[in-house]
Amino acid sequence: GIGYARGRFVGLDEPVIPIEDRAHQFGDGVYEVIRVYGGKPFLLQQHLERFWRSAKWIELQLDRSLQELQELIEEAITRAGFSEAQVYFQLSRGIVKRDHAFPNVPSHLSLTVRPVNLKKWEKGKEYGQHMILVEDIRWKHCHIKSLNLLPNVWMKQKAIDQGADDAIFVREGVVTECTSSNLALVRDGVIFTHPANEHILHGITRRFIMENAHQIGIQVREETFSSDALYDADEVFTMGTMSEILPVTKVMDTPIKTRYKEKQSITYQLQQLLREAIHNLT
Ligand code: PLP
Repeated sequence: GIGYARGRFVGLDEPVIPIEDRAHQFGDGVYEVIRVYGGKPFLLQQHLERFWRSAKWIELQLDRSLQELQELIEEAITRAGFSEAQVYFQLSRGIVKRDHAFPNVPSHLSLTVRPVNLKKWEKGKEYGQHMILVEDIRWKHCHIKSLNLLPNVWMKQKAIDQGADDAIFVREGVVTECTSSNLALVRDGVIFTHPANEHILHGITRRFIMENAHQIGIQVREETFSSDALYDADEVFTMGTMSEILPVTKVMDTPIKTRYKEKQSITYQLQQLLREAIHNLT
């Protein structure tokens, strides 16, 4: 993979960021992850716009225009030369002597491009994911893609330690999302997913499904549901940039009756829709 930091392309293991960067001292910054298919970034504009919005919400000013950022991303993809890749970039509030108050220094953009480990998602695609339910201990601004991911990494590890694949966050009895994906359930041919408010990240894969489900004659409702509703659902699936659309086959110790491998299942049909959109890109 390759990196970009402090205004130049670097090797991924090159030490380029000083100790006093607010990203790692305070988690003071925002980030994005984009999937590259066949050398082309997927839904790039939507990711750029969300990045801009996340920065704006925390009163963080980009150090360049979105057009320049787009050009940098495209150059990085070309330089890295991978067909299937992940672009990660983040904006820190700057490199400056540690002090809580916002500094008057330029923000700092850094970026990495690495090949995608396709193997990582094979098991989930084939067998579905086992999820645990955990309390959503996150803050009240989950719509901001901030660098503060401690609850997410902690609960992901808790799931792994319990022999599961991932965790579903539950806030006051309501299912919000997972540690790095959104969640939906299907009941009587309708998709339900948590409304895009401050309790979830407004996922771009989630939005893709909301905007395209009508193509397979399916309605999407942004309504909250309890964790109990998962057990009564016909299908449960997750949505994310890297994981794409993955079935959920078990919640805690209870199997979900999803028939995700059958062509008439909504999970399957949505996966096909996404495949088509990716195919049209490349
Ligand atoms: N929810 C959380 C907490 C995430 O971290 C992510 C992505 O990383 C998502 C949802 C899915 O969003 P997207 O589809 O834009 O990748």
